[in-house]
Amino acid sequence: MDKRIYLAEKPTSYWIASTPETGYPSLDQDLHADVAIVGGGIAGITTAYLLTLEGLRVAVIEADRILRGTTGHTTAKLTSQHALIYDKLIGRFGKDLALQYANANESAIRWVWKIAKEQNIDCDLSEQDAYVYTQKEENRDGIDREIEAALELGIKAEFAERIPFDIPVAGAVRFKNQAQFHPLKFLLPLAKEIENRGGRIFENSRAVELEEKEKPSVAVKNGAKVTADRVVVASHYPFINKEGLYFARIYVDRSYALGIRAKEKYPGGMYINAEDPSRSMRSQPDGDGELILVVGEKHKTGQGVDTMLHYENLMDFADEIFTVEDIPYRWSTQDCMTLDGVPYVGRYAKDNPDVYVATGYGKWGMTNAIASAHLIRDLIVKGESPYGEIYDPSRMATGAAIGNFVVQNANVVGQLLGGKLAPLPDDVELEKGEARVVEIDGHRAGAYRDRDGAVHVVDTTCTHLGCELNWNSAEKTWDCPCHGSRFTYEGEVVEGPANNPLNSVKNTNIVERVATDQF
Ligand SMILES: Cc1cc2nc3c(=O)[nH]c(=O)nc-3n(C[C@H](O)[C@H](O)[C@H](O)COP(=O)(O)OP(=O)(O)OC[C@H]3O[C@@H](n4cnc5c(N)ncnc54)[C@H](O)[C@@H]3O)c2cc1C
Repeated sequence: MDKRIYLAEKPTSYWIASTPETGYPSLDQDLHADVAIVGGGIAGITTAYLLTLEGLRVAVIEADRILRGTTGHTTAKLTSQHALIYDKLIGRFGKDLALQYANANESAIRWVWKIAKEQNIDCDLSEQDAYVYTQKEENRDGIDREIEAALELGIKAEFAERIPFDIPVAGAVRFKNQAQFHPLKFLLPLAKEIENRGGRIFENSRAVELEEKEKPSVAVKNGAKVTADRVVVASHYPFINKEGLYFARIYVDRSYALGIRAKEKYPGGMYINAEDPSRSMRSQPDGDGELILVVGEKHKTGQGVDTMLHYENLMDFADEIFTVEDIPYRWSTQDCMTLDGVPYVGRYAKDNPDVYVATGYGKWGMTNAIASAHLIRDLIVKGESPYGEIYDPSRMATGAAIGNFVVQNANVVGQLLGGKLAPLPDDVELEKGEARVVEIDGHRAGAYRDRDGAVHVVDTTCTHLGCELNWNSAEKTWDCPCHGSRFTYEGEVVEGPANNPLNSVKNTNIVERVATDQF
C-alpha cells in the first residue's frame, strides 16, 4: 500500500501550527542600534533578549517571520546529551575544553527553567531523562566509553539495560534531569519582552549586505540599513561569504519528523539511537491529548533522492513501536554541521572585533544556541566568556576536522561539476505535482507543474555560489546540494545562504502528462 496517502499533503510543524503568527514590521528606513542581530531563530532571539537585559538597544533583522526556520521545526529536546559526544570531545580537545561544552549546555537547561519561572512562561517545560541507545552489541563499548567520559565531566550519566519500548536494545546511556519544551511558546514571550525593553524586531527584511566602515551596517533587500556598534550574524548559515570561509567549513544536513497519535501512552523520556539511520523520540502534550514525535533519517540538503521515502522509513519505525492511529503532522528541516562537531560562536573573523557569528549547532541548537547567546553577550559586555575557547570559530582544525574538510569539500566539487555535466532531456511531459530537471535553450532548468496545471520553470543555478539545484519532492522546493540554500518552485528563497531568487525561464516545450497514480 502507498504509505504516502497517510501523510498530510503539506508539511506542517506542530510548533508553528500551535502558536500565533507574529506581525512585526519590515525595516523600511535607516536606523541606529547598539547591536544589530541578523536572524530571528533561537540564537538571534535569545541573544537579543540577553542584550536588552544589559540595557543595549538591539535590532533583530529577520528575512521571514521570526522562529519559523529550523527553530520552528526542531524536536526541542533540551539536553546536554548530544548523542555520543563527550568521549569524542575529550579525545579531540582535552578534558578542559570538553568541560566548557558540557557546562555551557547544562547551564542552558537551567537558564530555561529560570526564565520560564521568572517570566511565568507556560511552555510545556518538563523534566525528562535522555537516552542514547544502541541496538548493536558491537556498539556497547561506545556507550560505556560515553558514560565514563560524561562522569569525568561531572554529568550524571548511567547505564540502562533497556528502554521502555518493545525493540531489542544492547544498552543505553541515560542522563538524568534533562528537559523538553515547546520552543515557540518559550521564545515568543522573549521576543515580546525585547520590544517591551526598547528593542526592535523587523520581519520580512532579508539582510543582503554587511558593510564595514567606521561602524558596521547591515543592509536589507529594499536598501534600508541598520548601523550598529556591533553585528551578530545568527542567520543559521552565515548570510555573507566574506571572511571566515564558513562556506567551506559548514555543511547542511536535513532530517524528517512525524507527529503521530498512538494507541499506547508514551512512557516518558527522550530517546535517540547511536547509529544511522538516526531515530529520535519524545512526546508533547497538546489539546487533543499526546503527540509523539518520531524524528530521524538524514542526508545532505539537495542530495536526497526521493525525499518522501524518508517519511516512509520513519512510518515503518513508528509502526514497529506503536499502534499508530493518526499522523496529523509531518515536517522536515536542516541544520548546519561543522567539521569537528562543535558550533562556531564568537568573533566572525579573528581581526574583526565588531562582528560575531553563531552557527553550526549540528542538530543540538536548543541548548547550544542559548549557550551561544550567553557567550556573545559576555564577549560584548565583558570582553570574555567562560566558553569562548571551545566554541571559537577561529580554532585550529584537529586531525578529524581536516579529514572532514577534505571529504565535505570534495563532495561540494563533485556536486558542482556533476550538476553541470549531467545530460538533460529537452522536452518532457509533466504530471500535476511533478517536477523535472530539463534543458531549455541549452541551459539547465527546473520545471514543476502545480495542482492547477500551471508550469513553473526556473534557472536551477543557485544564486549563492553557482551549484545546480535538485528537486525536493517532500517540500516541493529546489535545494542546493553544496551549501543548503532552498527555493520555492517559483524561485523565491526559502532559506539561505542564498539571498537572491532564481531567475524564471520561459516555458517552451513542457507538455502535460495525465496522472497515472496519486501523488
Ligand atoms: C530535525 C532536527 C531536529 C532537531 N532537534 C533538536 C533537539 O531536539 N534539541 C536540540 O538541542 N536541537 C535540535 N535541533 C537543532 C536546532 O533546532 C537548531 O540548531 C536551531 O533551531 C538553530 O537555530 P538558529 O537560530 O541558528 O537557526 P534558525 O531557527 O533557522 O533561525 C535563523 C533565522 O535567520 C533567518 N535568516 C536567514 N538568513 C537571513 C538573512 N539573510 N537576513 C535575515 N534573516 C535571515 C531565517 O529566516 C531564520 O528565521 C534539531 C535540528 C534538526 C534539523
